Amino acid sequence: MILHEHCGIIGIISLKEHNIVPMLIAGLESLQHRGQESWGIAIPNCFTIKKAGTIFQSLEEFKAINNLVGNTGIGHVRYSTTASSTLRNAHPLNIGEPTDIHSFRIAHNGTLERELLIESLWKEGYSPPDGVTDSELMGIGLYKNLKKTKNWVEAFSALNPSLNGSFSTVTLTARGELIGARDERGFRPLCLGYHEETESYILASESCALNTLDAHLIRDVEAGEVLEISKNGLSSGRFSFQERHAYCPFEYTYFAHPSSCIETVSVYGARKNFGRILAEKYPLNGDIVVPVPDSARPAALGYSERSGISFEEGLMKDRYKKKGSWRSFIEPSKREDLVSNITAIKETIEGKKVILIDDSIVRGISSRIIVGKKLKGTKEVSLLLTFPPIRYPCYAGIDFPTQRELLTYRVCKDTKNLDEINMKIAKHIGVYFLGYNDIEGLSKGIGKPDCELCLSCITGDYSCLRRKPTSKTRKEIKS
Ligand code: SF4
Repeated sequence: MILHEHCGIIGIISLKEHNIVPMLIAGLESLQHRGQESWGIAIPNCFTIKKAGTIFQSLEEFKAINNLVGNTGIGHVRYSTTASSTLRNAHPLNIGEPTDIHSFRIAHNGTLERELLIESLWKEGYSPPDGVTDSELMGIGLYKNLKKTKNWVEAFSALNPSLNGSFSTVTLTARGELIGARDERGFRPLCLGYHEETESYILASESCALNTLDAHLIRDVEAGEVLEISKNGLSSGRFSFQERHAYCPFEYTYFAHPSSCIETVSVYGARKNFGRILAEKYPLNGDIVVPVPDSARPAALGYSERSGISFEEGLMKDRYKKKGSWRSFIEPSKREDLVSNITAIKETIEGKKVILIDDSIVRGISSRIIVGKKLKGTKEVSLLLTFPPIRYPCYAGIDFPTQRELLTYRVCKDTKNLDEINMKIAKHIGVYFLGYNDIEGLSKGIGKPDCELCLSCITGDYSCLRRKPTSKTRKEIKS
């Protein structure tokens, strides 16, 4: 399955005045898989830097960036799920009057319902201009609360009833403090680490950024927690406490880097578990197990290990076809190009019964191309998916916001029986057999009870949100 990712965030503060700018860029680069549309950084006493494309694509400008010095900073890589892809909408966002001590710069990963934030700002007598993004609306709300309360936990607490959706944020204050916060359900990840050499605290979307920087993971930022870090050290406060969490299982199956650890669970380990679980659920008669690169590779290894059927690299991804991007780049007008950088190894697949492992099917376009074109010459293809059927839109930060574009909804409508869904989707994709994972297998693979996970796109139960946002077309969402 190929989708745009959402966003990645990082914040670093050195307690001993070390220059952290090179670390900020290196850490951000390791989060590039979470967004390739734009990137940006903010450090004290310097205007916010924003660039289009990937960090690699801005290499020429790095010399200028390398001259920057700062001992605190935040960074962001972006893919827009709700607003148009312009540099204005790129993060970090500047919030408040720059001369105001309460002003700040903020980077956000997630999606919030704009209407609820606009309603709350109206009540305060403020009418935001048209086209303001969810992130900016949250920033404005926080700024107004901060001016009143002078306290970050209270600012989040007062705005929280209007924060419907997902957010993990890093903020650089005018005083040079670093603030990290995570929504009350914990949809999107955020972790805290420490780098000994520069005596720096690091907040990052994923622990793969800490690995890159040779920093160690301390813990995940908790759902509903605000961390305030200054030269004087770190303090933690809670703006909300919810027993029911909603960690996004998509992070484990597809989005997150396999070297990351989220909520004490290894992403690689979870993916391998999904493969083992699929081998028990669907003990197929095949010659080889082949992953759709790259995210399904650990699951294919797990399937192979449990079934005894040999693992083969039947499909390879050309990493250099899209410069700087390690994943496919969707341009809606060029859907046929979705898998153009995947090539089959003919010698491996020809005449074979292939058990193909992928993470999920959203629109089904890439699966059809892979099966119909790339795997031509095989004897038969069976497709197994580590994520259950996606029938409902995501309002918490993943790029499948409309129901009509979801293949399972279009093809299966009200069919609830998994065997029937498997058969209908198999026919549509053109495979001999198709088998989805179920919620039990998803939860078992991650090692968390299903009550800890967001399952809205599978079940249609949006009770982890304050209210179900109104469905919109893609055009409306991006306007
Ligand atoms: S709706 Fe699906 S993709 Fe969105 S946060 Fe929930 S589990 Fe993740």
